[in-house]
Amino acid sequence: MKQHRVKLKITLWLTLLLLVLAGVLLGFMLSVSQTVVSRSARAQLSSTVTANAALVSLMEDGRVQTQPGFSYNSHGVSTLIYSKNQALLAGQLPQSFESQVPFEAGSLRQVEGTEYLLLDLWVPSGWEEGLWVRGLLELPEAGQTTKNLLIVALIALPSFFFLAVLGCWLTLRRAFRPLDQIQETAAAIGEAKDLSRRIGLGPGKDEFTRLAESFDQLFSRLERSFEAETQFAADASHELRTPVSIIRGACEYGLKYDESPEERRETLEMIHRQTEKMSALISALLTMTRLEQGTEQPKLSRVNLGQLAAAAARELPKDLRPAFEELDPEVFVLADPALLTRAIRNLLENARAYGKPEGHVWLSVGVRAGSAFVRVRDDGIGIAPEQQERIFQRFYQVAPERSQASGSTGLGLAMVQQILRLHGGEVLLESQLGVGSTFTLCLKAL
Ligand code: ADP
Repeated sequence: MKQHRVKLKITLWLTLLLLVLAGVLLGFMLSVSQTVVSRSARAQLSSTVTANAALVSLMEDGRVQTQPGFSYNSHGVSTLIYSKNQALLAGQLPQSFESQVPFEAGSLRQVEGTEYLLLDLWVPSGWEEGLWVRGLLELPEAGQTTKNLLIVALIALPSFFFLAVLGCWLTLRRAFRPLDQIQETAAAIGEAKDLSRRIGLGPGKDEFTRLAESFDQLFSRLERSFEAETQFAADASHELRTPVSIIRGACEYGLKYDESPEERRETLEMIHRQTEKMSALISALLTMTRLEQGTEQPKLSRVNLGQLAAAAARELPKDLRPAFEELDPEVFVLADPALLTRAIRNLLENARAYGKPEGHVWLSVGVRAGSAFVRVRDDGIGIAPEQQERIFQRFYQVAPERSQASGSTGLGLAMVQQILRLHGGEVLLESQLGVGSTFTLCLKAL
């Protein structure tokens, strides 16, 4: 019952409102019907008596003469004819009417203490003589009208109420169904910790559908965030294990044995390298996690791609800088300068790290078929075709020993790909083992 509380409340309120409304309406109808009945009775009496008075006359011999059309009893109106001295000449008094009511020409009134309406008209005959025409009409009993109305109300209202309340309840149940679905899904997610569940109300424009849509988006964001966090924790704990155990081993060895100053220096250098690697790994992982979670959104602006690539190259030590193959100064893209610089730097560093001794690296920026590109080409060791897809996976390294030495993390290309995806672009790779590799970042040119 608890979960139906709002629906129940609304239905009860509506029922109460209907009851009050019906009461007010009934009272109004009763008073209106009384007025209408009384008005139509008065009109009836007046028209009948006036018509009859026009059709009656007093003869010279004192007899009453009526013309065709005259009626003593018509539409409930009893017409009586009295002499000037108020003696009944013709017509019959209704049985229930006993009072001796004085005559009053032209005044339509209710006889005191009775339910009778009365109208007297004087029909003159010559200067002195004349007749009284009196009309009597019994008002329909007020109680009867009320009774009739109440009977109708008693029969009609319960069924009307039942239908109204049922209709209200069903409509509310239907309208609130999405809310129940939202609550069920949220509860299921909470209980089963299954963030992949969605409300899935489908298309619609009402408030609940929009609410469900927002909740689904929220669940998606939560799921993404939760997955990224889990991935971060798993990756960090897995990848930090090796450098940590190397550092621990080196420390234990150093504490146990007396190392020569050269050996100690070597140990310290090794520990330093490992901590550098750990810090690079954590920083890269954090950036990727934030980008995945959406907590770090790219700050897009109009960027001159040539200038940005040249600046990224200039940040490298002199001997690692690339040669410019093609540099179009008029290429503009919508990008986050910091993220794009990071992607280009990763590629340039890789080109050096996996290059041959005395090898070359070339950098190009241009536009081809509406697409802006940054190309990093090297004549290094190259990548075998079966490895070319896998090197974009997190932590994948073709030759870990070589990467280990360079202090790399295996996250560089995964991050490049993620950055390009966030910009709506892509990374292309062409490579031949032993010949060299070409990485191309493609973005929509402005
Ligand atoms: P890492 O930190 O190991 O460089 P990356 O994700 O940047 O990680 O690269 C993944 C792997 O791809 C590298 O370990 C390397 O084996 C290979 N790789 C990347 N760039 C090149 C390149 N220019 N030439 C040859 N191999 C490359």
